[in-house]
Amino acid sequence: MNRLLEYPTHQNYDIIIIGGALYGSSIAWFLSNNPDFSGTILVIEKDPSYEFSSTIRTNSCIRQQFSQKINIEISQFGAHYINNFRNFMNNNPQVPELNIQAFGYMYLASTKKFAKILKQNQKIQQASNSKTRFMTASEIKRQYPFYNVDDIIAGNHNLVDEGYFDGNTIFNWWKKSAKKNNVEYIKNEVSSLKLSNRGNSIESVHLKSGDQLSCNTIVNASGPYASKISSMIGIKLPVEPRKRYSFVFQAEKNLQKLLPLTIDPSGIHMRSDGQYYLAGCPPDHDPRVDYNDFSFDHSIWEDKVWPILAHRIPQFESIRLKNSWVGHYAYNVLDQNAIVGYHTKIKNFIFANGFSGHGFQQSPAIGRGISELIIYNQFKTLDLSPFNFSRIEAKEPFIETAII
Ligand SMILES: Cc1cc2nc3c(=O)[nH]c(=O)nc-3n(C[C@H](O)[C@H](O)[C@H](O)COP(=O)(O)OP(=O)(O)OC[C@H]3O[C@@H](n4cnc5c(N)ncnc54)[C@H](O)[C@@H]3O)c2cc1C
Repeated sequence: MNRLLEYPTHQNYDIIIIGGALYGSSIAWFLSNNPDFSGTILVIEKDPSYEFSSTIRTNSCIRQQFSQKINIEISQFGAHYINNFRNFMNNNPQVPELNIQAFGYMYLASTKKFAKILKQNQKIQQASNSKTRFMTASEIKRQYPFYNVDDIIAGNHNLVDEGYFDGNTIFNWWKKSAKKNNVEYIKNEVSSLKLSNRGNSIESVHLKSGDQLSCNTIVNASGPYASKISSMIGIKLPVEPRKRYSFVFQAEKNLQKLLPLTIDPSGIHMRSDGQYYLAGCPPDHDPRVDYNDFSFDHSIWEDKVWPILAHRIPQFESIRLKNSWVGHYAYNVLDQNAIVGYHTKIKNFIFANGFSGHGFQQSPAIGRGISELIIYNQFKTLDLSPFNFSRIEAKEPFIETAII
């Protein structure tokens, strides 16, 4: 096994990345794979088993169905990246070919108000070349006879570039390839950050081991810990760890066709998961939780999830729970959207935070974007500036209506 060193080999680096899971590794890979970048990179990860990271507890699905054009474009690049993964990994023959299991997403509306939002979103998605269809309840029933649509008015559905993908393989290859490109990963914990006397840059990074480091640029890729890291230099970041439950279940009799990732009006989502099915939801009471709180409320399955599954798909009356877990979203309380780019005053501090429930699909576009910001001091492909920190300071949400 490739064990990580605990101690850094240098005292000074060009880039220090806090957190070595999905975002730390995406940014490390995009930087180190760019011929225009020749700097040194240190990734500091406190738990290389990643057991409690969002990355390991994800559901790993991708969709085009967003209401903001930039979020659609980010996922379109995500889909292109997944479908051409080996090609993006420099045609390394050891890298597996990936694709999206495109069962599509199905947003269901039970109120006129939400049906109207779906119609508006479908227009925005269509204008960005996504294949979303706005469907009436009877059209949904015709295509998917297993749904109970008695309380449904309409739905949005898209079978192109929407569904499950093997995100874990992408994460592992980014990490492995970044290390091969001389990115240094260490098992250690950032315990504090020190500002310069003028307060406009971070002067040093302090580790639990007692080491003190300096660098040109620091990236906060610490997932649900993002506000804890930011608070070390007095920044208030509205990102909270929030629990999200996942349940894998077996049906006594499988549905006739793949189950789209269905977003039920109750807020519960369900989809095919190989020979099984997967459902997910927030708890009814959804507060900020402690970083180490992964306690599981077993009543949620029986009292909340199963009855809704059986209502929406009567065939799910007979099901058996096979597996379940709880994970933490890095939940952006202001607008559930990403926070990406430099701090407004602390000039060497970059955010890659607040991805809530859609960070996996965004990791190719945002890893690439942050590498551009570091190397060229600007976004060169997709303009990610709507996700900047100044909106957080101004408390001006960048509203995305399609949030799961
Ligand atoms: C249940 C669930 C389902 C999801 N489903 C989807 C989905 O279907 N599609 C989708 O696109 N997204 C989904 N997401 C979101 C996606 O998984 C996350 O946005 C993404 O994995 C975030 O990666 P990250 O690297 O930012 O955070 P994390 O994976 O949490 O990594 C942060 C890392 O930082 C480390 N760290 C923290 N503090 C320190 C410190 N002081 N020093 C050193 N290291 C530190 C941690 O140990 C951790 O490894 C889901 C998330 C959850 C929880």
